[in-house]
Amino acid sequence: MSQQIAVTRQTFDDVMVPNYAPAQMVPVRGEGSRMWDQEGREYVDFTGGIAVNALGHANPELVKVIEEQARKVWHIGNGYTNEPVLRLATALTQATFADKAFFCNSGLEANEAALKLARRYAYDHAAERGGKEKSEIISFYNSFHGRSLFTVSVGGQAKYTEGFGPIPAGIMHLPYNDLETVRATISDATAAVIVEPVQGEGGVLPADPEFLKGLRELCDQHGALLIFDEVQTGVGRTGTLYAYEQYGVTPDILTTAKALGNGYPIGGILTTSKIAASFSPGTHGCTYGGNPLATAIAGRVLELINTAETLNGVKARHDHFVKGIEAINARHGVFDQVRGMGLLIGAVLKPAFAGRAKDIVVESEKNGLMLLVAGGDVVRFAPSLNIPFADIDAGLASLEKAVATVAATAKAA
Ligand SMILES: *Cc1c(COP(=O)(O)O)cnc(C)c1O
Repeated sequence: MSQQIAVTRQTFDDVMVPNYAPAQMVPVRGEGSRMWDQEGREYVDFTGGIAVNALGHANPELVKVIEEQARKVWHIGNGYTNEPVLRLATALTQATFADKAFFCNSGLEANEAALKLARRYAYDHAAERGGKEKSEIISFYNSFHGRSLFTVSVGGQAKYTEGFGPIPAGIMHLPYNDLETVRATISDATAAVIVEPVQGEGGVLPADPEFLKGLRELCDQHGALLIFDEVQTGVGRTGTLYAYEQYGVTPDILTTAKALGNGYPIGGILTTSKIAASFSPGTHGCTYGGNPLATAIAGRVLELINTAETLNGVKARHDHFVKGIEAINARHGVFDQVRGMGLLIGAVLKPAFAGRAKDIVVESEKNGLMLLVAGGDVVRFAPSLNIPFADIDAGLASLEKAVATVAATAKAA
C-alpha cells in the first residue's frame, strides 16, 4: 500500500525531521558507481554513500548473500550465537591484530562500546594502581566519532554538542597531530586516547606517522588504551584492510563500520583478549548486533575487499584521482592541496574559495556527479573501491565543469 504514495523531494520538507539538507534529486536505483534519480537522470557516484558502498550499488555477489541468508534466518537475538557472526569474527581476528570482536549496527555504537570498554577496563584494573581514579578520555579537535551524547561529546566539534548538555564529564580535546600537547596533558588518570588515523568528516586530514607512534608510546607509559576510530578509514578504504597497518602502529581497540556492510548497517570493535575480558556477560549489549543477516553480508564484503587485487586497485585509483584533480586545478586554480589516503581524498580549497565546497557539490549534481564535502573548505571523494577508471574520468569531467562555474562566480563576486 505504501508503495502507492507519490513522493518527491518536497515530501522530505513536509514529513521528515529537518536534521538533514539532502540534494534536490532523489536517487532511486544504483549499479556499481552509477546512480539514477526519479527523473531517470544518470550520475557518477563519488560519495560511495559516505564511504560506505565500498563494492558499489547492487553488487551481485552481495545480492546473492542477502537472498540466501534472508531465506535462512535474519535475527535470533543474543541468547543464541550464529554461524555468520562466528565466521565474520574469525575472519576479522585472523586479518588483524585482534583476538576478539564485538558487533553492533553503526559507527557511533562501535565507538560507544570502545569508550565504555576502555573505562570499564580501567575500573576492573583499579586494584593494580591502588584504586586510583582512571577515567579520562583524550580526543582531538575536529574529530568525529558519532552522534550519541557520549560519542558526540568525545568528538572534537563544539557545535555538535551545543544545546545538548549537560554532556558526559572527563573528556579532553587537544590539537590533532600535536604530540607535545598530548605529552603535557596525558597522565595516569587517562583511560583512553581515541583518534582517527585520517580525520574524515574533519577535512580528510591524515595523521603524521610520528604522531600515532608517539600516542602509542605515551599510552603505554601511562597505561591508557589507544583506540583507533577506523569507521571511515577501515575495510580497504585507505588501500590496506585497516589504516593502522600502513602506520605500523597497533591500537588496543579498533572500531569499524561504514564499508563493513556495504550499506547494510553493521559496526564492530576489535580488541585483545585481555581487554575484551572487561565486557563480561551483562556489561554491554546490542539487540541487533551480530545478527546473521548483517554478519553474512559483512563476511562476504570482507572476503571481496581483503584481496591484493582490490587493495592494489585502491592505490591505483588513488593515483588516478589525484592526477585528475591536479590537472583540473592546473586549469582553474581553486585548490591549495590534495590530501588523503587510498580512496579517501580531500581537495582543500584556496582561501579565496573558502566556504565554497558545498557550492561545488551542488554544481556537480547539475552535471551528473554525486560528491561530498568534509567541512566548508574541503571537497571529499569516497567512491566505491572498485569504481571503474572510466567512471572516474567521467566524474572528473563533471567536476571540472562544476569547478569552472564556481571559479567564475567567485571571480565575478
Ligand atoms: C561516520 C563516522 C562515525 C559515525 O558512524 P555512524 O554509523 O554514523 O554512527 C564515527 N567515526 C567516524 C570516523 C566516522 O567517519
